[in-house]
Amino acid sequence: MAETRSTCPYCGVGCGVVIESDGAQITGVRGDPAHPANFGRLCTKGSTLHLTASAAVTMQTRLLQPMRRAQRGATPQAIGWDAALDTATDKFAQVIREHGPDAVGFYVSGQLLTEDYYVFNKLSKGLIGTNNIDTNSRLCMSSAVAGYKKTLGADAPPACYDDFQQAQCLFITGSNTAWAHPILFRRIEDAKAANPAMKIVVADPRRTDTCEIADLHLALQPGTDVMLFHGMLHLMLWEGWTDAAYIAAHTTGFDELKRTVRDCTPERVAQVCGISKDDLLEAARLFATSPATLSLYCQGLNQSSSGTAKNAALINLHLATGQIGRPGAGPFSLTGQPNAMGGREVGGLANLLSAHRDLANPAHRAEVAALWGVPAVPEKPGKTAVEMFQAAADGEIRALWIACTNPAQSMPDQATVRRALERCEFVVVQEAFSTTATCDYADLLLPATTWGEKDGTVTNSERRVSRVRNAVARPGETRDDWLIAADFARRLEARLGRTDTLFPYADAESVWNEHRESTRGRDLDITGMSYAMLEAAPQQWPLREGESTGRARLYEDGVFPTPDGRARFVDVAYKPVAEPRDARHPFSLTTGRLRDQWHGMSRTGTLGRLFGHAAEPSVQMHPQDMARRQLREGELVHVTSRRGSIVLPVAGSTDVGLSQAFIAMHWGGEYLSGRSSTGERLAGVNVLTTPAFCPDSKQPELKHAAVKILKAELP
Ligand code: SF4
Repeated sequence: MAETRSTCPYCGVGCGVVIESDGAQITGVRGDPAHPANFGRLCTKGSTLHLTASAAVTMQTRLLQPMRRAQRGATPQAIGWDAALDTATDKFAQVIREHGPDAVGFYVSGQLLTEDYYVFNKLSKGLIGTNNIDTNSRLCMSSAVAGYKKTLGADAPPACYDDFQQAQCLFITGSNTAWAHPILFRRIEDAKAANPAMKIVVADPRRTDTCEIADLHLALQPGTDVMLFHGMLHLMLWEGWTDAAYIAAHTTGFDELKRTVRDCTPERVAQVCGISKDDLLEAARLFATSPATLSLYCQGLNQSSSGTAKNAALINLHLATGQIGRPGAGPFSLTGQPNAMGGREVGGLANLLSAHRDLANPAHRAEVAALWGVPAVPEKPGKTAVEMFQAAADGEIRALWIACTNPAQSMPDQATVRRALERCEFVVVQEAFSTTATCDYADLLLPATTWGEKDGTVTNSERRVSRVRNAVARPGETRDDWLIAADFARRLEARLGRTDTLFPYADAESVWNEHRESTRGRDLDITGMSYAMLEAAPQQWPLREGESTGRARLYEDGVFPTPDGRARFVDVAYKPVAEPRDARHPFSLTTGRLRDQWHGMSRTGTLGRLFGHAAEPSVQMHPQDMARRQLREGELVHVTSRRGSIVLPVAGSTDVGLSQAFIAMHWGGEYLSGRSSTGERLAGVNVLTTPAFCPDSKQPELKHAAVKILKAELP
């Protein structure tokens, strides 16, 4: 029996795990008592990791050898690695030669390790010369990135998990922490039990399980968060609850913002948000007058056509009240995916470069070009997630490489995504699982290792880098993601006539060391963070060369990484959702996670016990809405948006507001069938969702679509 310390691959809490194995198979998993994210605890998903790992192999849902389709729709046939990568090289080289580098794109994942992300980014921007590399983290955290940068000057969550114990007020908004980040929720419950005076405010259209510990639940109308935050600031100003000294010493732009929030009177906010004036006042009082207020927020703010504005308006509240840079105080975005943070650190998005550099900054492009040893990094912005698939649907992108993600289920507006995949001349899908909907569109399937088999690092929500370690041998012919990308890159270099290589990596550690050096002098400087140091314990960044430990909390000195050292109030206007409900589509549909499932269920869907919490998809509606439409519990309904329609059972719940509906994001394939508005067969809730995105972050509005709900006519 062997034991290997690693990290859970599910969510941004980043819990440490101890993997038990018999040398060949993973036989057990338990929480790592020494890991500072979870101190030995695991949630239902984490504690069943070993079962999903073996079930995936038993049920043959793993992709174990490279496969090629002779033509679309044909059964893929096994080929060797050399033939597979030579085929990919031929196709990508041909498209680049005939149509230029921007005719190819890479769509990667917040579930890749930092080392994987780094190599893909360098391959695309450094070798090929296209910024067309984006990630499913665009659907998850890009509004938080843009919000931090606009206000605080850098994409750096300033708080840490220990702040839960220090906070006197927790303001949880756009986050069902109880289900999406269960171990953090346990820590919040502990903090509340230890300090009953701690107040918890939850702002969420639904009454989620997180509301169970709330002193105040603000059931605001979907998408009205900016109006709520502006209304709170209006009252803080009126009541004299702002921190004038902090504002004067550490910020700029408050006068402009004051003019904007002057119109956000309690009457107007109550009407727009659908909450009472008393509750608004109480939320403002608790936030502003608490000795230490910590905000926790996630997709409810981020997945919005106003995602950046929502993030900025919330951070405005922290700056206006001086609730930042102290123990228990600050804005704290929670990351959905296990390594969305690592992806941000290596610049694995279409608008970023390594170590939080900006593509739009010529000096940053020159620095990265020098680091990589390439003549230049292209200036032209790359396509972000929604733009990338639209460009492919339009024939502008002709070859796509998709790694560790399932856009044929997870992207909004599935009809466009499927059209994009069909139209592409060549699609590579690099995956651990053979069962994702995207695999059906692959010309080439490349088998990747996954949790328990691969080696590298991830960064969790509190900027803590943990090691991911392989506990068992790589099954079949699977290879690590960074290795596949580097092997392809070297073949492409030869095709392009290069005699040396930009990708001389022997192992994941050598990739890490190059990434580490690229951060020197940057806000996230990790030059002191070696694999040897991480062997001993996970570490938070920044951690500079010569330092022995990272920083738990940022901005304690009131100095921000902006040109003048001051944080910036951002004057944002409230805008309603992209697609307000109307007479034809009278329901606001929101989407979200279930407690025991993960993403498209490629891993959790292999284990029967994880269906105990929710056995099948359903649309939740308020019982009064059901009665008005003469719908009975469990009856099948059509849920229809402007883009398509799905059929599923209805479930009554007073947790959902009137004229609202909720569908979990996980179900696809045969579980939740539907059709596009033009009749194509599709599946999953994203048949319905809109591709409208935030103009700053380009994050799509997965959290809201206008729909109608009608009883299904059975044949
Ligand atoms: Fe894994 Fe997240 Fe659960 Fe921790 S809270 S065990 S990281 S799924």
